[in-house]
Amino acid sequence: MSKDNRKIALVTGGNRGIGYQTALQLAQQGVHVIVGARRIEQGNEAVQQIKQAGFDAEALQLDVGDSASIQAAAAEIGKRHGRLDILVNNAGILGDQVEKPSQQTLPSWRQVFDINLFGLVEVTNALLPLLHKSGAGRIVNVSSLLGSIAQHLEPGSSIYDMKFVPAYNVSKTAVNAWTAQLAYELKGSKIKVNTIHPGYVKTEMNQGGGEMEVPDGARTSVQMALIGDDGASGSFTHLGETIPW
Ligand code: NDP
Repeated sequence: MSKDNRKIALVTGGNRGIGYQTALQLAQQGVHVIVGARRIEQGNEAVQQIKQAGFDAEALQLDVGDSASIQAAAAEIGKRHGRLDILVNNAGILGDQVEKPSQQTLPSWRQVFDINLFGLVEVTNALLPLLHKSGAGRIVNVSSLLGSIAQHLEPGSSIYDMKFVPAYNVSKTAVNAWTAQLAYELKGSKIKVNTIHPGYVKTEMNQGGGEMEVPDGARTSVQMALIGDDGASGSFTHLGETIPW
């Protein structure tokens, strides 16, 4: 298939971890992948690895915490491709860990929200015009089970006692809530937006302490990036299973 006929995807934070695997797996599915990376050298390295594996990709400098970088990236994608078919909002940070939720400092709350929520919203809004030019735009917001209010309130749930990154948890709840807002705006359009939990995945974010291998951790993002026209919008899932909000 020629490059022009292939879907074009941007994966933020695509240089390592779940983002890199998402980029690789999308490339393996015949998608032309743009690897968004805060540091372009790391984006270039990821692209080299994808190319060495026999697939196609390109790198793009994108710091989701920097408006100028976001605007420049959107303009560059417009110039290079004229549209965007898939946006995977994967970049994220954990922030400081605390003993009790009330101990998280305000600077720490702001830092986490700047990247996990405001960055994601700004990237999405900047790219919406290009997604509207796609015949079947897909937005995947990489959230977390830790964003589930229902599970946080449920004694005995797997996350009930996981209150040591409150800013992170609440930022992911906000990502879910934003997904619902945007899904409403996009109903009737060709764009679908969904939020996902990748699983508890062995990446640098948790110093390799997860349960799933990274390739498996990318599967939900890839699945939702490639859903058909009859697929969901405004859902919160993990590997096809609905997660309580
Ligand atoms: P990693 O820490 O391994 O990777 C995080 C990625 O985000 C890196 O590419 C990093 O880039 C990028 N990033 C951070 N800040 C910025 C920024 N300002 N601009 C652009 N990119 C940035 O984490 P994971 O792969 O584990 O996490 C990926 C996503 O999955 C996150 O949203 C995370 O919250 C979510 N998630 C992860 C889980 C897990 O168990 N691992 C569980 C649930 C959700 P750089 O290399 O430059 O730092």
